[in-house]
Amino acid sequence: MSKKSKKVRHILSLSGGKDSAALAVYLKDKIPDLEYVFLDTGYELPETYEYLKRMRAILGIKITALKSRRDFDFWVNIFRGCLPSPQNRWCTRKLKIDPYEKHIGSDLVHSYIGIRADENRDGYFSSKKNIIPYYPFIEDELIKSDIIQILEDSGLGLPKYYSWRSRSGCYFCFFQRRHEWIGLYDNHPELFEKACEYESNHLDKRLYTWIERESLKQLLARRDSVLSGIFTRPVKKCSSKSKKLCDRLKSIHFSVDDGSILREAFSSNKQLSNLKEEDEPCLICTL
Ligand code: SF4
Repeated sequence: MSKKSKKVRHILSLSGGKDSAALAVYLKDKIPDLEYVFLDTGYELPETYEYLKRMRAILGIKITALKSRRDFDFWVNIFRGCLPSPQNRWCTRKLKIDPYEKHIGSDLVHSYIGIRADENRDGYFSSKKNIIPYYPFIEDELIKSDIIQILEDSGLGLPKYYSWRSRSGCYFCFFQRRHEWIGLYDNHPELFEKACEYESNHLDKRLYTWIERESLKQLLARRDSVLSGIFTRPVKKCSSKSKKLCDRLKSIHFSVDDGSILREAFSSNKQLSNLKEEDEPCLICTL
């Protein structure tokens, strides 16, 4: 190999979610030398690990788990107990992007991303120049129903956490909706308890919360109102311009909590198109 030529690799990063799983099925025979990686924070849902095991067995593929040398507990101590948030996603950088970039080094990488043709998604991923993104589902105009069909036909089906949570990612992910935190409590009470522990027990006695201005214990105490979708808290991010639309959306989406309703609406509504990228979950965690 000459000094100038770089190794070219084809990589699909699996999140444990349906779209990247469907993309694995879709590309398996199209790109024979495709590498499958899973950016394992070590704090993923049990259902995610189980789904990856199914993928290995059913598709007969090797999935390389990439881990940070230091775990979340190490980093949260470095950040003096300050939990990551949409505005400060050090977890994605430290636990996912850094190990991924280390894995690819300076190789030229064709990175396959499972954004669908019916989505208007953008998000936080690596910005390294040697990573070239490809969007096969967009190019081939595949939408959500196609993805479900691909997964059903392959025998993989959907990850089990979809019965109570809409996205993959760490069990304590701050992007999850309020009713999903209740789902965590109902499905994995021990993980909910661990998430509560991160909010307290700090040497400086400060309380850091995963949800703005509300601890998980407080959230759990009002579980009935959360699950009934009643809007008991003000919508903080609603500007006066979008207030009208926000009120209208509230009256339509009874089962969606106040934070997520705006995020969902923003992606498809021009009136709300000033949503900052910081409110979008990381592609690398959720696709
Ligand atoms: S899934 Fe959530 S908590 Fe985990 S690394 Fe990604 S953004 Fe951070």
